[in-house]
Formats: sequence, structure tokens, C-alpha cells
Amino acid sequence: MTTDGTFTREDRKYMKAALKQAEKAIALGEVPIGAVIVENGRIIGRGYNRRNTDHTTLAHAEITAIRKANRKVGDWRLEGCTLYVTLEPCQMCAGALVQSRIDKVVIGASSFKSGCGGTLLNILQNEAFNHQVEVVSGLMQEECTEILQRFFKDLRKRNKMRKKSAVPDAGTAGDISQEQVPDQPAENASFD
Ligand SMILES: [Zn+2]
Repeated sequence: MTTDGTFTREDRKYMKAALKQAEKAIALGEVPIGAVIVENGRIIGRGYNRRNTDHTTLAHAEITAIRKANRKVGDWRLEGCTLYVTLEPCQMCAGALVQSRIDKVVIGASSFKSGCGGTLLNILQNEAFNHQVEVVSGLMQEECTEILQRFFKDLRKRNKMRKKSAVPDAGTAGDISQEQVPDQPAENASFD
């Protein structure tokens, strides 16, 4: 894993595309996490977090991007592909990425609550499995952190206003309880 500034212009372009996906999640009131999968300089799969919207545990950005890339290449294998994701993959997504045999994962912000690309666990590079993924972290970390901070700040504001008006409201992001809303989302970017 490297965290130096050796990212290319291409890398930034794809992380920007992943951030654009994350913005789509914000529009739905979802925690903003986005991902794209690239093969030979072409984006073949995009995804963003839609967990509340779709009422499924499986609607993480990476899983959706994998599904779409699989459809595009007509194969469950994603050999030769790279995934760009704004937040470090969780255990489910890291597992799916290993299963997909993807070559490389480029991560924006680290997740200190569920990161399985080296923070809590390193499922992506566990030698016990038959496939290890090249992992690079810290690409556009500030932007990837900022979008989460902005979301949680707005959420806190909305929760405060809701409390003031004392009107019961289920809310789209209502299952993210107050105590789970972190002051430092980069360090606590939990969407569990
Ligand atoms: Zn995940």
C-alpha cells in the first residue's frame, strides 16, 4: 500500500468519476460513497451507495459497480480491471473484489469503522486466499473526506432542526442515529 503522491492524471480522472457517483448518493439522502471500475482506460461499471433507497444490505457502491462491469464484459472475472472507490471497502465489498479477481483497488479515504483494505483487516491482500489485489490508498483523500463531512454536517443540522420542531419523521437517513454521526467522518466514516 502506498500513500505517496504518485498518482497520475488518469487516476484523478477516475476518482473524480467515483466522486460524481457519490454525489448521486447525496441526492438520495444516502451516505456518499461512489465507485467506478476501469478496463483499458474505459469505465465499465459505476455504482454508489443506495442501501436505504433499495432496502438491501447489498447496495454498496462497489457491489453495484462489480455487477455492472460483469454485465459489460460478460464474465464474472474482472481480471485486468481497476476499481476506484471514494471510501475504503468494507468486509463484504473487499470479499467480492477478491472473488472478482480484480487487479487493483485505488482508495480515496480510509474507513476506521469498516475498512478491509488494510485499516481494520486486509482482506484484499490476505495471502490465505488464492487472489490478492494491489491496493493504493490516499488518492484525492481530501475531496473524498470532504464529501462525507459535508453529508454528516448537513445530517446533524437536519436532525437538530427536527428535534426543535419535535415532529416525528422517519427520514431517509433516519437509521443513522445521532451517536453514529461522527465529528471526524474521515476517521469514523461508518455507514453501518
Ligand atoms: Zn461495502
